[in-house]
Amino acid sequence: MHIGFGVFFLCAGSVGLILWYLKSKSEPAVIPLNPAYRKILQKNCTYYRQLPSARKSAFERKVQRFIMLKRFVPRQLTHVTVEMKVLISAAAVQLTFGLPNVYLRHFRTILVYPDTYYSTISRKYHKGEVNPAWGIIVLSWRNFVEGLANPNDSINLGLHEMAHALRLENMIRNAEHGFLNEKLMSRWEILSLRELSKIRKGENHFFRDYAGADEEEFFAIAVENFFERPVEFQEQMPDLYRVLCQILNQDPLLLYSHRKAS
Ligand SMILES: [Zn+2]
Repeated sequence: MHIGFGVFFLCAGSVGLILWYLKSKSEPAVIPLNPAYRKILQKNCTYYRQLPSARKSAFERKVQRFIMLKRFVPRQLTHVTVEMKVLISAAAVQLTFGLPNVYLRHFRTILVYPDTYYSTISRKYHKGEVNPAWGIIVLSWRNFVEGLANPNDSINLGLHEMAHALRLENMIRNAEHGFLNEKLMSRWEILSLRELSKIRKGENHFFRDYAGADEEEFFAIAVENFFERPVEFQEQMPDLYRVLCQILNQDPLLLYSHRKAS
């Protein structure tokens, strides 16, 4: 009898444990928000400030989760500050806010330099890069901050590098693979190749010249313009703008009109 009861309790305990495990797997633990994050976002992140208050909480939660999933590594710095972690994560969350389950998981490590850094491979100074082989995103903090300083000049290093990471993440075979709609991406390619050829011919173009380098740079610069000059982007290239809204599942013009109304 004793043995029988022992087995029963053990089994009941195991079932409870399994249920707890399954629950914890399906529902990420709700961790209280760090109040410091909110202050940093409110002070420095234009996109966050423009969000309706209900959406701000979702943004904060995604930032917190992004920080938990990444390893921030200081380079030529003593440490990566909380402000750096929050604002770098906010750039990724801004880009992926319409894609709820996308956290750029392949890129687990983020290297932060104080300024431009010398690459022994390219023998040039860089502001940032994305390395899919090592799962690394690299950023110069000075250039990152400069990108935030003017939210309307279509220069934003954080968004630029995260846009590169997004396209790569979509192609790399892992849990986040293939989240960008294929039909929309094909439509994007047709429209962007048309614009690329205009830039390469030297025609006066809404995007800066570097967008003509290749399709990856074109996409990254399109993202910078999408968030920082949505009105002009939509006026100049309405089809391209609409497709990018659909790809990213968000429309910065709605935030822009919200800002104007408030
Ligand atoms: Zn680039």
